[in-house]
Amino acid sequence: MTDNSEFDSHLYRTALAQLDRVAARLTLDRDIHERLRYPRRALVVSIPIRMDDGSTNIFIGYRVHHNTVLGPTKGGLRYDLGVNLGEVTALAMLMSWKCALMGLPYGGAKGGVRCDPRALSTRELENLTRRYTAEIILLIGPDLDIPAPDLGTDEQTMAWMMDTYSMTQGKSVPGVVTGKPLIVGGSAGRREATGRGIVYVLYQATRRLGHELRSRKVIVQGFGNVGAVAARLLWREGCTIVGVSDIKGGIWNPDGLDVRQLEAHVTEAGGVGGYPGADPISNVDLITQPCDILIPAAIGSQIREDNADRVKASIVAEGANGPTTPEADALLRERGVTVIPDILANAGGVVVSYFEWVQGLQYYFWRESEITSRLQEVMTRAFNRVWTLANKEGTDLRTAALMEGIRRVAEGYRVRGLYP
Ligand code: NAD
Repeated sequence: MTDNSEFDSHLYRTALAQLDRVAARLTLDRDIHERLRYPRRALVVSIPIRMDDGSTNIFIGYRVHHNTVLGPTKGGLRYDLGVNLGEVTALAMLMSWKCALMGLPYGGAKGGVRCDPRALSTRELENLTRRYTAEIILLIGPDLDIPAPDLGTDEQTMAWMMDTYSMTQGKSVPGVVTGKPLIVGGSAGRREATGRGIVYVLYQATRRLGHELRSRKVIVQGFGNVGAVAARLLWREGCTIVGVSDIKGGIWNPDGLDVRQLEAHVTEAGGVGGYPGADPISNVDLITQPCDILIPAAIGSQIREDNADRVKASIVAEGANGPTTPEADALLRERGVTVIPDILANAGGVVVSYFEWVQGLQYYFWRESEITSRLQEVMTRAFNRVWTLANKEGTDLRTAALMEGIRRVAEGYRVRGLYP
């Protein structure tokens, strides 16, 4: 196989190893397999920003399209110090499998800027977002590539992106991003979509394993868009949320946290730390505390070879992308832990992003109840397909989900053939 060292990173090597393993299982055509190992295109940009103190800083940004074979590309934009070309490429590849698995007419993409968003003022963040958008403008558009929020970005980031793009077109183009505020064409239920999707797959998984979701003990690592919503909805379902964390550390109470009060505390204090009625705990220790369900919803590689054998949960639902290393995955599998993989568990976000895009193209908006019931239908159908395939193939849910996603993308390549 050809050298692909420019994309080298831990996550990219993991993504390639997953692809190679599944390709062998699917007996994929060798040439198509080789094409799937590379992104279609990758753009690296430098972003000069005038800082509040008058100095100029250069930030490095990326936008990667993994494949465009099933439709325009779709994928989040990440602001994080860990961002590099290899990580963004791996995440774009995962988006390809995720969109195909969920039956969405998209290829996979991802973007990122290497920065610490918490260290930037609102003005600096706006300037960074607008200049990044201008630099990648050739690669984005409603029928070309549609960014969405991810780690470190939010609805406001999407509003700035949409405005910048729209200014260059001389008209409002809501379909260029999803996950934007409702007032400028966002979708009802988008903010909650990823967390809500996790609840729907957990509902199916616990049912299949012969339990009730209600009264399960849950730990959530990462109390952001994904984790906080998952915690709130599971708490409302009757689960006991025994521990949560954010980047500064976690809190733990085996009798359960009141998530509504916790959210009010986070709004005031800026993080979960200091919440009364719980003990502080580190992110490292939180993952191995007693619980039934563990939801890693922060960053990658949090369940590793060195802690996987101490994970007490019987179900891990991957809210984050790539939170379990392949070595840890094998250890969890050996111990009979059910891992609901990222490309299935956290797909609710891209599913409602798809709904938002469709609504924007039609200028016709659906009620929230319509969105949540369609989301439930799509998540449940995908979960059941993956569960059935895993049983048929005698494999784990991750392998089955990847088999289904990769098979569909490969089939797209096969029927379209090779240009020229
Ligand atoms: P977010 O920025 O809203 O929240 C991230 C949370 O994780 C915050 O509480 C933050 O403090 C915490 N965190 C960050 N670094 C950490 C660290 N080193 N250790 C522990 N906690 C840390 O981001 P989000 O949108 O909730 O995304 C979280 C994860 O879910 C990411 O991996 C993202 O790729 C994935 N994801 C997000 C969506 C979505 O719709 N937002 C969809 C699919 C997957």
